Amino acid sequence: MTSSIQYLEQLIAFPTVSRESNLDLISYIQDVLKKLGVISTIVHNEEKTKANLWATIGPADVAGVALSAHTDVVPVIGQNWSSDPFILTRKGENLYGRGSADMKGFIACCLAMAENAVKHPLKTPIHFAFSYDEEIGCIGVRRLLDMLKTLPIRPRFCIVGEPTMLQVVTAHKGKLGYRVTAHGLEAHSSLAPIGVNAIYMACDLIAEIRRIQADIASHGARDGDYEVAYTTLHVGKISGGVAMNIVPNETNFDFEIRYLPQDDGEAIAARIREAAEKVAFGFRSVFADARFTFADLQSYPAMDTPVDSDVVNFVRALTGGNSTGKITFGTEGGLFQKELGIPAVVCGPGNIAVAHKPDEYVSEVQMALCDDMLARLVDRLCSEA
Ligand SMILES: [Zn+2]
Repeated sequence: MTSSIQYLEQLIAFPTVSRESNLDLISYIQDVLKKLGVISTIVHNEEKTKANLWATIGPADVAGVALSAHTDVVPVIGQNWSSDPFILTRKGENLYGRGSADMKGFIACCLAMAENAVKHPLKTPIHFAFSYDEEIGCIGVRRLLDMLKTLPIRPRFCIVGEPTMLQVVTAHKGKLGYRVTAHGLEAHSSLAPIGVNAIYMACDLIAEIRRIQADIASHGARDGDYEVAYTTLHVGKISGGVAMNIVPNETNFDFEIRYLPQDDGEAIAARIREAAEKVAFGFRSVFADARFTFADLQSYPAMDTPVDSDVVNFVRALTGGNSTGKITFGTEGGLFQKELGIPAVVCGPGNIAVAHKPDEYVSEVQMALCDDMLARLVDRLCSEA
């Protein structure tokens, strides 16, 4: 028997930062499963540099429980780690390493569980859905979902093992991200009024975005179960201008909309595009071609699973916890729900608060609790079709 912590040690050693290949890690998992007699389906990206893995333990002709996880991790560059982020390091009862919480800890528990599951006569199968490029906008799993759409039988529901301290999470916000470019007219700065300053255009539009945010915050939908109860707009990056003595002709900024499931993110985006048209119009008396262009950045749908649904009751019975929660960060669960109509919950070991930071860790207790949860899953699927 290989323990979940032993598997975690192996998984952490693959530096699967999103921009790098995850193929070595995928073939490691494929080998582990193959030794247990479990065949994996590999779904590559276009360039064949990364891959998703799909595997089924148990009967192939029954809709099963999908366990979803991403294999990529965020970079460590510029972070001050106390130990090598790609060597699992134990200090006290915590296990440190990049991805320990987000979310190789969960994958490790899945592999340890697989050793146990293959020895049992499952009536309902367990599926593994391990993806790439989640951290850069839930990119990889979309190809896996396209493959699942072609299968005659789809999973009954999905558990996404993102770190929630094993709380059952039923909902998260959706996200839309854009890069906006303001196109103005350059001029010598001593003749500033004959140019159109693209920095001013961008600032005026950002002021409109802030006005829309204020309106949403005071008049929009609210859900007190979220840490921030309403849909948020945020500008995270801006760049423009070349020198003091040039009126800049181009400025761009990145903004995001993190919307409640009951809000329409696209409608809010349309409202911002309308505001952009109005702002641009104001500059056209000087330059007829003053305008904004929008390019899509990362986006993913919201997830919203009713608290009284089967999947929620099922996973609550596995964890033994009564409460459910909602989270502010996104997961692949929204895509399972939107693309395939598969109800999803988020429930995994570790704390999101330590993810993406130096000295990320998962505790041994969390790993053990996740092992217990997955052992109960196997038990339950032996008795239940
Ligand atoms: Zn994650």
